[in-house]
Order: sequence, then structure tokens, then C-alpha cells
Amino acid sequence: MPDEVIRVLSVLPSASLVVAPDGVVLRANARATGLGLVNRDLVTIPDIRHLIERVADDGHPREQEMRVRRPPLGRELLELRVRVASLGTGAILVLIDDLAEERRVDVVRRDFVANVSHELKTPVGALSLLAEAVLAASDDSDQVRHFAERMQIEASRLSHLVQDVIDLSRLQGDDPLTRAEVVDVDELVRRAVDEVRTLAARQDIEIVVGDPTGGLVYGDESQLLAALRNLLANAISYSPSHTRVAVGVRNADSIVEVAVKDQGIGIASNDLDRVFERFYRVDPARSRVTGGTGLGLAIVKHVSQNHGGECTVWSELGVGSTFTLRLPAYDSTSTSSEERLALGVFSTPVGEART
Ligand code: ADP
Repeated sequence: MPDEVIRVLSVLPSASLVVAPDGVVLRANARATGLGLVNRDLVTIPDIRHLIERVADDGHPREQEMRVRRPPLGRELLELRVRVASLGTGAILVLIDDLAEERRVDVVRRDFVANVSHELKTPVGALSLLAEAVLAASDDSDQVRHFAERMQIEASRLSHLVQDVIDLSRLQGDDPLTRAEVVDVDELVRRAVDEVRTLAARQDIEIVVGDPTGGLVYGDESQLLAALRNLLANAISYSPSHTRVAVGVRNADSIVEVAVKDQGIGIASNDLDRVFERFYRVDPARSRVTGGTGLGLAIVKHVSQNHGGECTVWSELGVGSTFTLRLPAYDSTSTSSEERLALGVFSTPVGEART
């Protein structure tokens, strides 16, 4: 099969298969495998197999929507749009879209817009009240100063929120790694730590950085820096004074791991799953004091996913938390990471919640 065809299939948003006329699967992309549509070299869903047979018989392209149980367990119902066409070379192309997933993504998008509007209302409402207060107190310069300072705080909250929303929407764009390069993780950690030093000093928190490891990843440096900065800022914001935040890098088994460990307030186990959701805060009042937008960890999650990695958390109330960012190591010796990215090897597994 020509390389071009393989490349095109790997970047298509649909699940795709190339099948020989006898039904043997010659090629399946990660999405198709993720949906359980292929087992060894056979198509698992009989309705799709029949559609392929009909196209193999008469060469006419066909499209059909079907509701089927997701192989192999069959617990989940899939709503698929299947398009089948002959490639002319004897091989047959099958494109499959998961309609339920498309609808779910739409709902998530709509919720996001509603949440952002709601979140914007707080600082905007506060600014308008403060402006009224300034007017009412115009003869009292101390009061005016007091309200003006609070206006500054609200304005900066607003600008953080807008910036985070912009960052998050960029991250969810279709082509997240357009500015990818080889990134030195030790250097990245050094820069992220530099950026949060003032914040740490204000709370008398010591940041301890482990030894350099020489770990390299292939990715967007500014995205990775933003992710690390968010993890560090959280570690500081959710810790009492006179504690320590430790950052360690490990580079082993083709994975570069950055762990940010704090001795802070910790997170209860029932909140752990939810902290990566947009606008989820364990304690909204405290986040308001720290100026948090509730988007920091959602940004971290998307950055790690865009890089084919993950972010996990361990935490215990009153003991502290460790957030671990795991990224595929850049390996200059084998197939280059650029190529693997292009081939979709790092693509997000299908069916995973995109919050
Ligand atoms: P925020 O802007 O509110 O900090 P994040 O998305 O960064 O939003 O984090 C979501 C929530 O997770 C926070 O509101 C906080 O309750 C909790 N959290 C994040 N990091 C930590 C940490 N290191 N220790 C304790 N709680 C944390």
C-alpha cells in the first residue's frame, strides 16, 4: 500500500480500515482498534463485514448507520456511520464514525461555553459593584484606594481566566503540535521553577529540584512549560507556609516522568478523579483566595494528552499530593518521534473522556 495512503489514514479523524476483498484487514488505524472493530486481521462486527462483502461484489460505494454492541465485551452501545468504498486496487476502504461520541463532544462544548459565561460573571459583577462603591466614596480617598485595589485584583482574575480559556481552546484545536521540537526536560523544569519562585517566596515555601537526567521529549515547549508551571503553582497555592515542594525528573523505559510533590492540604479520594475537570475545585472559596481559575489541571491534562502522555495524581488529606506528568521520551535512534506523531501512534485513545 502506498505510504501516502497510510499517512492519510493515520491522520483522519475517523476510524479507518483497509480490507482485502476476502475480508482480511490489511490496515487499521488506532481509532479502529480502539473501538474494538478489529480482532487479529478480521472485522469484528458482522454488519460491517456484510457491507464490505457487498462493495467487494459490485464495486459500488455504500454508507450505512448502525447501532451495535462494542466488541469485545458488548456492554456499550455504539452508534456508527460506516462508509465503504473500493480503492480500485482491489483493496476496500472503510471509514467509521462514532456518532454518539460526536454528540457527546458537542454537549461538552456547550457545557464549557455555559461554564465560562458563568465564571466570567463573578469578576465582571464584582468590578461593577466596586465601580459603584468608588463613585459613592469619591470624597474619601482611603476608601477609594481600598476599592481601587480590589478592582485591580478582580481585573487580574478576569485576565487570568480569559487567558486560560484561550489556552484551553488552543489545546483542543485539531492540530495541537504544530510547533513541536526536541525539548530538554531538565531545562524546562528549571524555567518553570524560575517562574513560580516569587509565588513560593511569598509563602515561604522551598522548592527543591532533583538531579538533571538528560531526559528529552518531542513537543511544544510553551505548552509543556505552561503545564509544569500550573502543577508547581498549585503545589505552592495549596500548601501551608514553611513547607517544601519537590520536583523530580526520571528518564527510564522510553518515558520521561516529572513529579511535583508537595506537603500541602491534600485532596480527598472522592475528589481525586474530578480535579482534572474544567472548573472543578475542591474548595471554591479557597480557589477564590488563591486566584485560581479552575482550569489549570484541565490544561495540564490536555497538554499531556496532546503529547501522547498522561498526568496522574496521588494524594492524601493533610499529607500532600504528587502530580506526575509522563511523556514519551524522544528517541533519536529509532523511528523519529516526529514520524510517530505523524502516524498517529500517540493519538488519544478512542472513547477516553475528553473533559
Ligand atoms: P485552580 O485554579 O482552582 O487551582 P486547578 O484546575 O488547577 O484549578 O485545580 C483544580 C482543583 O484541584 C483546585 O481547585 C484544588 O482544589 C485541587 N488541587 C489542585 N492541585 C492541588 C494540590 N497540589 N494540592 C491540593 N489540591 C489541589
